Amino acid sequence: MVSEVPQHATDTLASLLAAELPGRVRRHVMLSEISRWRIGGPAAIYVEPRSSAEAARVMALMADRPEPLFIMGDSTNTLFDDRGFSGVIMRIGRNLSAMEIGGKSVWAQAGVWMPHFAKAVGSAGLGGIEHTIGIPGTLGGLIVMNGGSQRKGIGVNVKEALCADEHGNFFALDQTQCGFSYRTSALQRRRVVLLEATLQFQPRSRQDVRADMLSILRDRRGKFPQKLPNCGSTFLSNPAMYEHVGPPGRVIEGAGLKGLRRGGAQISKLHANFIVNTGGATSDDVLWLINHIRSEVFIRTGYAMDCEVRHLSPEGVLRAAHESALERWRSRSSGVAR
Ligand SMILES: Cc1cc2nc3c(=O)[nH]c(=O)nc-3n(C[C@H](O)[C@H](O)[C@H](O)COP(=O)(O)OP(=O)(O)OC[C@H]3O[C@@H](n4cnc5c(N)ncnc54)[C@H](O)[C@@H]3O)c2cc1C
Repeated sequence: MVSEVPQHATDTLASLLAAELPGRVRRHVMLSEISRWRIGGPAAIYVEPRSSAEAARVMALMADRPEPLFIMGDSTNTLFDDRGFSGVIMRIGRNLSAMEIGGKSVWAQAGVWMPHFAKAVGSAGLGGIEHTIGIPGTLGGLIVMNGGSQRKGIGVNVKEALCADEHGNFFALDQTQCGFSYRTSALQRRRVVLLEATLQFQPRSRQDVRADMLSILRDRRGKFPQKLPNCGSTFLSNPAMYEHVGPPGRVIEGAGLKGLRRGGAQISKLHANFIVNTGGATSDDVLWLINHIRSEVFIRTGYAMDCEVRHLSPEGVLRAAHESALERWRSRSSGVAR
């Protein structure tokens, strides 16, 4: 693992965190064991708060520390690095997953598991959530990414987001302040942890919601890889590219890249915008494929595709995975096997 921070400083930080959050702090956690893609080296410190107050406390403790902090939901959109992570991974997951439905309003903690959230909202006779069915990850991750499907994003339903800032102070953002646009939000550009959200949906018959969800699930199961670890769509759909040459999956397939392998990583044979881990894939394998796809598609179409998936460096730099890939392989490489 690469780290600029002296080991004794990280030991001190781990002790401070353990004193504040007893039993919730672990050392040297292999990210390949907890991440969705099953990729990543050791994280120096891993912490799972059990309340919003504990999460805010972690933020406050980290405020003046040199170690990087990464807030993780379920990592369904995140590529960890083979070299690990030199700071603190704070997971907002099942420990923070309460929810309450009252009329058209739904309150939930950020760690609630999205498939559970979507089913509960639909079963309460509320519509507008259907497009999220089948998307893994946490509500917090979905809001931060403004995720969704069928060209919709969860942001339109968010009324208020309760966060803690880098000093551990709570504050609320309304929908406008969240700054939602296609697969992004202002929350991505601030050092904050999203803790709770209130969302608004429209009354709709349970049967109609269920019928739409089942149809979306059937469609997803036929189109997307279900068994091998992956992080969903690798590349964002670019409207101009979509109009002229089609969506990323079709364009990558058209470039003859479906099924291409690099080490343990493979461009899915089912859907070319997915990169699957067939066993033992490394972050370098995935980044290499991303770079290769991007340059082949650019040569053929003139469009440079950007990644939806984000890569976390050992030093805490989080950026669209193609940017990390570009940095590593500025020129085209060889050694590709089908
Ligand atoms: C099989 C599969 C299918 C998918 N299909 C879709 C799809 O149809 N549509 C779609 O939009 N996405 C899809 N995705 C991508 C992914 O599921 C979503 O982006 C998801 O919402 C991310 O949630 P997460 O909890 O896993 O986030 P993570 O990957 O853990 O985090 C994503 C980002 O959000 C930040 N973050 C997470 N939680 C918090 C928090 N509480 N506070 C502050 N920051 C936070 C992280 O720091 C990171 O920057 C798919 C992924 C997979 C594996």
